[in-house]
Amino acid sequence: MYADLVVHPQWIVPVDSQDRVLEGHSLAVAGGRIQDIVPTAEARTIFQAERQLDLPGHVLIPGLINAHTHSPMTLLRGLADDLPLMIWLNQHIWPAEKRWVDPEFVLTGTRLAALEMLRSGTICFNDMYFYPEVTARAAADAGMRAVVGMIVVDFPTGYAESADEYLHKGLGLHERYRGHALIRTAFAPHSPYAVSDAPLERVRTLADELEVPVHIHLHETHEEIVQSLRDHGERPIARMDRLGLLGPGLVAVHMTQLEDAEIEALARTGAHVVHCPESNLKLASGFCPVARLLEAGLEVAIGTDGAASNNDLDLLGEMQTAALLAKGIAASASALPAYQALRMATLNGAKACGMEDETGSLEPGKSADMVAVDLGAPDTQPVYHPVSQLVYAASRDQVRHVWVAGRQLIRDGQPTTLDQQAILKEAREWAARIAATN
Ligand SMILES: [Zn+2]
Repeated sequence: MYADLVVHPQWIVPVDSQDRVLEGHSLAVAGGRIQDIVPTAEARTIFQAERQLDLPGHVLIPGLINAHTHSPMTLLRGLADDLPLMIWLNQHIWPAEKRWVDPEFVLTGTRLAALEMLRSGTICFNDMYFYPEVTARAAADAGMRAVVGMIVVDFPTGYAESADEYLHKGLGLHERYRGHALIRTAFAPHSPYAVSDAPLERVRTLADELEVPVHIHLHETHEEIVQSLRDHGERPIARMDRLGLLGPGLVAVHMTQLEDAEIEALARTGAHVVHCPESNLKLASGFCPVARLLEAGLEVAIGTDGAASNNDLDLLGEMQTAALLAKGIAASASALPAYQALRMATLNGAKACGMEDETGSLEPGKSADMVAVDLGAPDTQPVYHPVSQLVYAASRDQVRHVWVAGRQLIRDGQPTTLDQQAILKEAREWAARIAATN
């Protein structure tokens, strides 16, 4: 049988419904899709492949999906740290964005983010930022998948003047990328505190019409709840419910300060939650009760949030933090086991983005979006359980190869589509400009 590529890793972790780890299996790719996964001895006889790749000591996993980020914010990494969310946002991040964010900023920031994400095994990111058309172009040029947010806020920025204009520009973006192989769109109203009822209602109507997700920060901090009670007389989730936004298309990011009835309401409506443990920890925002959410039947994905509040876009590290934090919060060492953490960073991310038919697991017919991690380093030896090594011990420099739709974007740790030196140079130039005025 003809194949474009057959990969022979030591282990394959398909992230399937049976939590399998396959040893001594090979994966064949044809036309950008996974053709089959079969025992290696069999693969060597049945496939005539253009390219065969032996990867002893490597584990092959589905490409990681960063379910919440603001990719251009890589350019603000480390600009202001060790501050609570509202001071950090109001006195540092938003003023810096007001002054600096333009299409060139977004282009360089997204390229830097794409470079960092690809090198660490992330093949898709769910993004929320200004000038999303630039992010879309940068991701597509890198060969990555992205869900670019049609951002909405009440206040004017260089990108748009009013909620209407944000929506208008978003719809233009949606039209432009309809049917694109790599790029999808989602509505991205920033948060309940930054968007008033009328635009949120329009978002709901349009999201239903266009069948795209609604990606929003929700229940990030205690202050958000207090402010909502003061301004609207209801908690943010109750407000989302009143506006008709709770449902399977909702991608709710953060989800701290949750009451039992809110968890039940979210589970009942099939909403997706994105957990950003490192950003929550760094901004001391509160804790997302992941184990309780999973118990209630919610699908929880993992995001890094922006590089200004993390400060990296490293999903391997984020999985580890998520697994450890969940155990601490639940006071149970069996909360969020390693395989489940990997599922959150892959298949659940794909589900949140409405892309589970295309990516998120290694199964015949899906896109060949995959990552080979070398577990041969001393840091991850010996290997009893490859998923344990991945989640609890591996670091992102062990990511050796990354493919999206069968196209190799990282080879031996190096990017094939992005010019690393040029991107680093541009990023340093931006930093020099920003630092001079901050
Ligand atoms: Zn965020």
